[in-house]
Amino acid sequence: MTPECGALPVIVQKYGGSSLANAKLIHNAAKRICSLKDDGTDVIVVVSAMGDSTDSLIALSSAVTGEATPDAREMDNLLSTGEMVSATLMAMALNTRGYGAISLSGGQAGIKTDSVHGSARIADINTDRLRRELDNGRIVIVAGFQGLSDSGDITTLGRGASDTTAVALAVAMQAKRCEIYTDVDGIYTTDPRLTDRARKLAEIGFLEMLEMAALGAKMNPRSIELGAVYDMPIYVASSFSDEPGTLIHGGEQTMEIRKAVTGIAVDRNVGKITVRGVVDRPGIAAGLLQPLADAGISIDVVLQNTSSDGTTDFTFTVAQADVDAAAEIERNQTNVEFAEVVAGTDLAKVSIVGTGMENAPGYAARMFSTLAAAGVNIDMITTSEIRITTIIERSQVQNAVEALHDAFELEKTG
Ligand code: ASP
Ligand code: MG
Repeated sequence: MTPECGALPVIVQKYGGSSLANAKLIHNAAKRICSLKDDGTDVIVVVSAMGDSTDSLIALSSAVTGEATPDAREMDNLLSTGEMVSATLMAMALNTRGYGAISLSGGQAGIKTDSVHGSARIADINTDRLRRELDNGRIVIVAGFQGLSDSGDITTLGRGASDTTAVALAVAMQAKRCEIYTDVDGIYTTDPRLTDRARKLAEIGFLEMLEMAALGAKMNPRSIELGAVYDMPIYVASSFSDEPGTLIHGGEQTMEIRKAVTGIAVDRNVGKITVRGVVDRPGIAAGLLQPLADAGISIDVVLQNTSSDGTTDFTFTVAQADVDAAAEIERNQTNVEFAEVVAGTDLAKVSIVGTGMENAPGYAARMFSTLAAAGVNIDMITTSEIRITTIIERSQVQNAVEALHDAFELEKTG
């Protein structure tokens, strides 16, 4: 431990907007914060804006500017107020309960960022003020999703980034863990809306969680990345109940994580583009994909067939919303000769995820035979060390998830 660390362990708790949507809910969260403080812990609380207030602020700005895009600096000043409202109200709630508390803006809490308004990155955190307030016995409430740039201007970190603030503060303060309280009660083996056999996980590894988060489970992936890099355990639970949540961590693999398949991730908004009859030569992949990158369109699964007669087919997936734009770009690009561009929509991505699959053969075969038995046609396949991904028709998602959940016995623990 460095000398700047106080005697008490630090825990960072973050409350999402829906957990703070009104005065009653603010007190509900305050109660939880007080009992953590009573346990003999130094508590830092990160708050999101109340309910949908960030959306309301955005709507207000467009009501004022009309067609014109609002100035990015003014926008950040505006949006930062949402989190300030909940931070100040939380400090007041704690005070009325007889607890010393102070609210701080991101800047006051020492959070320094680059100057990219609307999607700033945290550069550094000066913990002096936080440490001083904790040493004075206070609970410190920090407005999430914001910081201060070198020029002294308020920046925001991007939608949903209060999670990132919380994990970053936990890292900077060498906290025991970061607790995220939200309206979901943890991480499930798969989307519970797809099968009633979905089971809440007691724990999940960072890498698995990144796959699950990127593929649709509700957590800000940036915060998981930060947790993984600095090995900061993140506990996700509901603020509305006392049910145990899910611990995301990188520690010793315990029984459950050792289970080969941990979960099934689903992304229902997949479109694909196939460029047919591409004249094969070095540079075609770059030639086809660079114009998409220039237009800010992210690609996901990429397949290129081996060529026969000097031509090949090149297929990739994009978010469903980007399909038309991506097809247009490929038809108009002049880097690569091709015969035709075909767009496909209404696809989905279904992946089995688990660190236990690494170096263990047979999981892919089991996944494919399970899907075959369920009558699900696989359109594309891609794998990583801890994931096997299939692209299928969206209408088959439920069928596929139910079959896979049963085949890999995900309803059972350990
Ligand atoms: N209030 C911001 C948003 O709604 C940040 C957050 O909630 O994490 O995106
Ligand atoms: Mg929010």
